[in-house]
Amino acid sequence: MDARPTKLKLIGQERLRIEWSDATKREYTIGQLRDACPCATCREKRRAEPPPPTELPVLSPAETAPLRILSMKPVGSYAYSIQFSDGHNTGIYTLEHLRQLGTEVEE
Ligand SMILES: [Zn+2]
Repeated sequence: MDARPTKLKLIGQERLRIEWSDATKREYTIGQLRDACPCATCREKRRAEPPPPTELPVLSPAETAPLRILSMKPVGSYAYSIQFSDGHNTGIYTLEHLRQLGTEVEE
């Protein structure tokens, strides 16, 4: 995989667009990126049994506020870490992973 991001751009508050060096452009919703967080905690959460339907999750105010990306930082030359507005920033998104997420867009 040699394509690299050449441009990271937020579209409004809810979507991220990445332009790649091979001229591919992909768009991601913030929620999708957050749900795909590859950190150990989130992987553990996704594996856990869903709570019984009579139990509602207790959400912190940060979890109910609309999710935003506050920043993205390169990690070495192979990945990005994303700082989300809910305070989560431990996910390391490899370039390969980012190429699998989102939807390719024209233009
Ligand atoms: Zn995570």
